[in-house]
Amino acid sequence: MAKQRTIRNQVQAQGVGIHSGQSICVTLSPAPEDSGIMFRRTDCGVDIPAGVQQVVDTQLCTALGNDQTRIGTVEHLLSALAGFGIDKVLIDVDGAEIPIMDGSAEPFIFLLQSAGAVEQSQVKQFLRVKRTVRVTQGDKMAELNPLENGLRFDVTIDFDHPVIQAGPQRAVFDFSTMSYLKDISRARTFGFLHEYEQLKAMNLALGGSLENAIVLDDQQVLNEDGLRYPDEFVKHKILDAFGDLSLLGYSVLGEYRAYKAGHSLTYDLVQAVLADPSAWELVNFDGCPAPLDYQWAVAA
Ligand SMILES: [Zn+2]
Repeated sequence: MAKQRTIRNQVQAQGVGIHSGQSICVTLSPAPEDSGIMFRRTDCGVDIPAGVQQVVDTQLCTALGNDQTRIGTVEHLLSALAGFGIDKVLIDVDGAEIPIMDGSAEPFIFLLQSAGAVEQSQVKQFLRVKRTVRVTQGDKMAELNPLENGLRFDVTIDFDHPVIQAGPQRAVFDFSTMSYLKDISRARTFGFLHEYEQLKAMNLALGGSLENAIVLDDQQVLNEDGLRYPDEFVKHKILDAFGDLSLLGYSVLGEYRAYKAGHSLTYDLVQAVLADPSAWELVNFDGCPAPLDYQWAVAA
């Protein structure tokens, strides 16, 4: 039976914000059941729940907030939380973005493993897709399809770049915590050197470096150690989509399929799903095994 989960102990991490370049501290604390995932800007005393209604920007990252206050780059932390099925947590942050860490979800995985997980008394709700919901932007596409039991990602990217084309541009991933940790969580965000220079000129990506992203020039990967997976680029897209899907507020049972999608299209998809309640149902697994294999976050 799947129950709601929070973390056992408070944990803290410090890192740089990829856009501001500032040092930011993030603190995760246990939260009561039925509370959800809540971000708190401790520098200005504003609470921002992790939900689709709070999305204010999807261009370079997923940002939540309101007219005055925002928290950017939430997707890698949300992805790590979803990997352990942790759906209740308070996230204090003293700046306008979650630290980028190494550009993947792995540092947050270590943090959650040291925090440990606690199962709560309420059953966990799953959103089971009953029929396909699809969104497009030009030639880009994202959809959620019914899948009998489980959560699958089938993601294709299409970059005209020799390094990306040298590896598979499509990845299919069936979720379990262990497979997420092994195959997805270490995939880093990536960017192109010419875009990076443009972003810096716009006062963005001030904290960006080879320490927190794969950087490509026209021909090659500039990071000395190369890639962590041959298909790290498309795997990072899965990591991002998994985090963005958690904005639905439920664990998804279905197949996420996407072509050339990013945060913006996944956000459109999440909105389209919530706007069509006939396409899904909420289910729980009271008294029977849940189809998603969430493992405990075990103390390191
Ligand atoms: Zn990302």
